[in-house]
Amino acid sequence: MTTAELAGQRSRGAELLAAARTVIPGGVNSATRLVGAPHALTAASGAHVTDADGRRYLDYHAAFGAILLGHAAPEVDDAVRAAVGGLDLVGWGVTETEIELARLVVETIPSAEQMISAMSGSEATAQAIRLSRAVTGRPLIVKFQGGFHGWHDAVARNVISAPERAYGDDPLSRGILPEALDSTLIAEFNDLESVRALYERHPGLIAAVIVEPIPHNVGALVPEREFVEGLRALTAERGSLLIFDEVITGFRHAPGGYQEVCGVLPDLTTFGKAMGNGYPIAGLAGPRRLMEHFSSAGGDVLLAGTFNGNPVSSAAAIATITYLRDHPDFYERTHALGDRMRAGLTGICEELGVAGTAAGFGGVFALYFTEAPVRGYRDLMRNNDAAYVAFHRRMTDRGFLMLPLALKRNHISAAHTAEDIDRTLDAARDVLRSIR
Ligand code: PLP
Repeated sequence: MTTAELAGQRSRGAELLAAARTVIPGGVNSATRLVGAPHALTAASGAHVTDADGRRYLDYHAAFGAILLGHAAPEVDDAVRAAVGGLDLVGWGVTETEIELARLVVETIPSAEQMISAMSGSEATAQAIRLSRAVTGRPLIVKFQGGFHGWHDAVARNVISAPERAYGDDPLSRGILPEALDSTLIAEFNDLESVRALYERHPGLIAAVIVEPIPHNVGALVPEREFVEGLRALTAERGSLLIFDEVITGFRHAPGGYQEVCGVLPDLTTFGKAMGNGYPIAGLAGPRRLMEHFSSAGGDVLLAGTFNGNPVSSAAAIATITYLRDHPDFYERTHALGDRMRAGLTGICEELGVAGTAAGFGGVFALYFTEAPVRGYRDLMRNNDAAYVAFHRRMTDRGFLMLPLALKRNHISAAHTAEDIDRTLDAARDVLRSIR
């Protein structure tokens, strides 16, 4: 059944969505889940999800990138089943599982000497920012137009902005104190001069620069070498911290995240999403000299959280990271599938005369409806969002689930195959022909 038919007919999915709206505001638990004719979903396995009316979709949405090994990956689910029925949440002292996870993370992420656990990426970035302010004694942070680091006050601004609001005043929410918004400065990705200009305007006041090393919240802007190296040098020279928000890139592009790929080490790293293959867990890592500012080590930066280091999430993360460590071919495979997808999509656009280009890195791909090259957010302001919305809807109707927002990215997991990619490209060719 197509999305249009679904909307017009009484189906189990439509019934569930209507029921949801009576008890959940808008019917969903996170605002972007509502974009693009949402479905009620009832099952997920491997590379597929199934909706309440029995339709199967090849899933590149992957829960915003939290699924890396495929849905219900046996390695992870077995570890979770073993954890349930063992030591449950105690909330006092430490458990062996927490130590094992921290050891794995410290061995895997190049810049990590110690880590703290959290339940979501937003908590991890909130902690990173508070720690940066405490350590430097400075109030301001810098983020990039298009970067997303969670829903909290310090970062909830300037992600996908309308052209007239980009780089300016663009909060994601009402209810944020103006002082909080004013404490976050906006720069342009891949443009070191824009960061330098903020240091000139606010000397001695910038605590940290927080950056998604590949801004996947606007698809995939790939950082230029001089830019990442320049950020490292500039933040060090000005006495600020450099925070890599690897909540999407972490574990996905290499076991040690994008810092392993580019060889540039940040002061602090946040990670989450794929780390637990769908189970809620995140973390913050850094050198001992910074991490020991947390109150758990006698410092004055509060570390608290009832569910931090809980046994189920920790077991899922240990199983996921262990799988990745023991299967280096995972990266070769997903990177090759990503290359196949990107080359295919760009080739189809060229063949059909569509102004489009596929971008990405590793197993992540985005389809921009604009001409290459796309270096920074400024280039994305030319994107034909309406074309993406039509592309997304028609691909969904054909059974291919992608992120509904124009400019977002899609994810290839361990469960996708070369045949899946080829089927997707065949469908994309038909769809692109129809919206050209
Ligand atoms: N950082 C990045 C790069 C993200 O993409 C996200 C979520 O999409 C977050 C932080 C926030 O993570 P969470 O949704 O787990 O709070």
